[in-house]
Amino acid sequence: MEEIKEQEEKKCFLRRLAEKIKANKGKTIAIAVTAFVLICAIVTLCCLNAYVFNRFATGYVPTDADLAAVSGQYKRVVIIGVDGTGAYPGEMLDDDEGSLPNFKKLFVDGTTAKNGTKLSGSVTYSGVAVYPTISAQNWTSMFHGVRPPYHGITGSSSNKDLDAGKLPDAKYPSFVKVVLDAHPEAKAISSCTWSAINNGAIEDSPRVTKLNTDCSALTDIVSGEEVLKGKGAAELTAEIREVTAVDGFADPDNHLRDAVTVQRIIGAMTADGAEDYEIVYMHLNQVDSAGHSYGYNKHAYALAVSRVDNLLGKLYEALDEAGKADDTLFIYCTDHGHRYLRRTTGHGGNSDVEINVTFAVSGKTVKAGNMGKYVNTDLAPIVAYALGVKAAETWQGRVPFDLFSALK
Ligand SMILES: [Zn+2]
Repeated sequence: MEEIKEQEEKKCFLRRLAEKIKANKGKTIAIAVTAFVLICAIVTLCCLNAYVFNRFATGYVPTDADLAAVSGQYKRVVIIGVDGTGAYPGEMLDDDEGSLPNFKKLFVDGTTAKNGTKLSGSVTYSGVAVYPTISAQNWTSMFHGVRPPYHGITGSSSNKDLDAGKLPDAKYPSFVKVVLDAHPEAKAISSCTWSAINNGAIEDSPRVTKLNTDCSALTDIVSGEEVLKGKGAAELTAEIREVTAVDGFADPDNHLRDAVTVQRIIGAMTADGAEDYEIVYMHLNQVDSAGHSYGYNKHAYALAVSRVDNLLGKLYEALDEAGKADDTLFIYCTDHGHRYLRRTTGHGGNSDVEINVTFAVSGKTVKAGNMGKYVNTDLAPIVAYALGVKAAETWQGRVPFDLFSALK
């Protein structure tokens, strides 16, 4: 009985509502249109925020006084670019504090160089990649300080275009060019497992040394045509000989090539007759390879991130031994993350795992903790600031608010 009564009441309510709508037809249409417009506006704003506004940099444009104050603090900036790592180092450290000992020491806890200088670390795991989350778009934004519509390395062939030597318009110079133009004696070195960075993201100059670690590098090392130098060179050479004797020179997961990429820098910076470079760049590719083959958070992906951590430790130790840690600003950065499952490609979209990036900095003037908002266009102005050089006026990147203690 009760149920029938309820149903009748419901029917009555619906009938009454229908009658009301009929009687106020004009008013009802107006309310519906207004609601529709409002919903469209909210959806548009949300999309704009997710795809556009959160890619806008906030932070400082250092003044001349800021640049004068930092000038001379750092003799060099050493950048370890780790392709496709996303926010993963943060997840690994959350799961197991001991899993990335060198990253943790340098960028999370801070460390002390052998001459007693304290290096502080600042890190974020929620840095923002530019969209789409493709390597060429992001690395070009990182080197040239502007978002993709400005640097023009866009579209589905962007990675190939970059590798073929396509550069942004000269009005958006890379931080390498800006620093070398400001310091006529300065030199830079870039050692890459992925050659597109050297071919497209960095302008050619007689003062820039570019090294690409392709598979023929492994052949040359095994044959003795190239002799690796610096601490750890003999062990790495022996490892390459051992592994390539079994697997050949293809190195599909790039881990040997990444080791050579870093060893070449250790040799160039610390062996007898080493040059002093103001900008040192390394591009490592094994994490991206693992992401494409297996996906984010898979065992091989975690293994690649921890192998990179070993290389970071090796690099830091060699530089500290050579007395070059205390006056260096160290940067660990990445272009994008990866999706969990293998699809046609492992990244390019706007999901959290693709868009969130790790950005970590260590140095004597770094404010320990979390630097606040970082977007990938910020790399260029951060490097220029640390070397006391004025940012290019066209750059859209900024120096994050809480990264350096001298910037307030
Ligand atoms: Zn990439």
